[in-house]
Amino acid sequence: MCRGCFNQLFLRPELHSEGLAGPLGEADAPTRRAFMAYSVAAASAMSAVGAGPAMAADEGADFILRGGTVRPLPGAPVASAVAIKGGKVLAVGEESQLSALRTSATKVVDLAGRTALPGLIDPHCHTILASLIFELLDDVGYARYPTRDGLVAHLKQEAENTPKGQWVVGSNFDNLLQGGDFTRAELDAISTDHPIFVWYTNGHDACVNTEALTVAGIAEDVGGLPGGGHFGRAADGRLNGMVYEESAMLKFAVHFLGKITPEVAAGAVTDFCRHVASLGNTMLHEPGTIRSDWIEPFAKLSNSLACRTSASVMFDDMKGLAPFRGYGLGAKGATIANSLFSLYGVKIVGDGSNQTETGAQTKAYLNSTSKGSPNFDASQLKQMVAEVKAFGLPVQIHCNGDSMIDIALDAIEAAYAGSADYGVNRIEHATMARPDQILRMAALNVQPSFLMNHVRFYGAAYRDQIFGPERAAFMDPAGACVKAGLTFTLHTDGPCSPPGPLALIETAMTRRCVIDHSVVGPDQAVSLDDAIRAVTIDAARQLGQGDRLGSLETGKEADLTILESDPYKVSPDAVAAIKVSETWVAGERKFAA
Ligand SMILES: [Zn+2]
Ligand SMILES: [Zn+2]
Repeated sequence: MCRGCFNQLFLRPELHSEGLAGPLGEADAPTRRAFMAYSVAAASAMSAVGAGPAMAADEGADFILRGGTVRPLPGAPVASAVAIKGGKVLAVGEESQLSALRTSATKVVDLAGRTALPGLIDPHCHTILASLIFELLDDVGYARYPTRDGLVAHLKQEAENTPKGQWVVGSNFDNLLQGGDFTRAELDAISTDHPIFVWYTNGHDACVNTEALTVAGIAEDVGGLPGGGHFGRAADGRLNGMVYEESAMLKFAVHFLGKITPEVAAGAVTDFCRHVASLGNTMLHEPGTIRSDWIEPFAKLSNSLACRTSASVMFDDMKGLAPFRGYGLGAKGATIANSLFSLYGVKIVGDGSNQTETGAQTKAYLNSTSKGSPNFDASQLKQMVAEVKAFGLPVQIHCNGDSMIDIALDAIEAAYAGSADYGVNRIEHATMARPDQILRMAALNVQPSFLMNHVRFYGAAYRDQIFGPERAAFMDPAGACVKAGLTFTLHTDGPCSPPGPLALIETAMTRRCVIDHSVVGPDQAVSLDDAIRAVTIDAARQLGQGDRLGSLETGKEADLTILESDPYKVSPDAVAAIKVSETWVAGERKFAA
């Protein structure tokens, strides 16, 4: 699912107190002071060791992390210590080998048997949207309310706790996992005194009650809205409460969200990054749901965030990257000066989502005649991708269905002819890629990034309701990529699935759907080495950062994820539950449990 790729509701000027120019504003993040206080406390908690007489203090390591398992890169020798200086990896090795780097100023951190990995990267997470949704809306999703009865009881309770006339709003509702679409009547039974708005986790849809229709001024005879917004109708022709697409949802959102101030936006992003750091992330890539005029404030904010950030912009806003060319984009991506923020390429949304059967397929969905439909025909997409290439950037095309992947690969082949000189061209999600398309991607130097939580949460639904067992077994086909020698990465597409890289690793290894505990497509399981590469070095390379990030090697940025247990020493089914102990970014501890 990809809400962010489609739905930019939260980026609409109607919802921001200072228009598009400054949604993140100049404001310091509200929690910055807390972070600084934390950093001071953390630093003083570390012990300085005796000076090595042979070395002046400014020549040695700033930090030596020792006494654990250091895994610099899948396939590389395992070490027990890592030395850091100036925010970069100075050396990786055995503690005895690094002792010459100790000075009186070196702070030694005892790993105490913990395991240090390269910092984990989510190469496709809609940072700003996820932040605002987590911060501003009540999460009524499957993780909290796995049954319909529990969800309805919660909404009733919310209504009871809310003064009459005020909104009751929920987000992340999952119609596939939480009992099907809500109806207007069902929400009216919860309250007729409060307007109710339940936003689907697919990002495209919402359901409202009668009072919400009244407050938003939606008449029974309302037609379609500009921008594709429309309203569902029951068999008797009356509005059934379903609200589709951004322009229709905005009619309600302006009432319940009010104006998002720069302080609120900055605070939300700060809190979200702190949350994902606690799950092990040291970097998030925002694939397009940012506007180019937000880049500067976002870069400014990045220094106080708990993880690095990176972004691409949507095709329509491509030219907005021009002022940043000097910093490096695509293959030469670099951090914007004095920030922990980098830019990559250009995003195009090719089709819809398989959960709503709007991904563009070559074969009809199960028990249906519909194949979904692409957002662009082949010649349109060729023209767009040619423009991206002419601008000197890589392209990231959202394709959930195999028909859309055909169209995207044709366009990429025509423009780039197999070259990755502008950076890696990516197929986002590539959920239903066919075997021949995996081979074609390899031949064209195009790489997929899989939303592996599709298997985790929707694997059973794909098999039983959407595609049938044979096609579902080849969903998110990471195993086929390994066989073909095709590099792939793993992402959450937050807020469309829960953040956290360890669950991606676990599911890539087990192919287990947590809804019914079945294994979906065991042939597509990959090794732990392959799964870790997909959220470290290969993710870094898909963001133009492979020479700086993604592994613990001398001269690279000191980004680390420290785990309580070694993922190589637990069962694959236990990887997601491993506790994240610390994260470090550029040699600074950003999170500690
Ligand atoms: Zn997408
Ligand atoms: Zn997305």
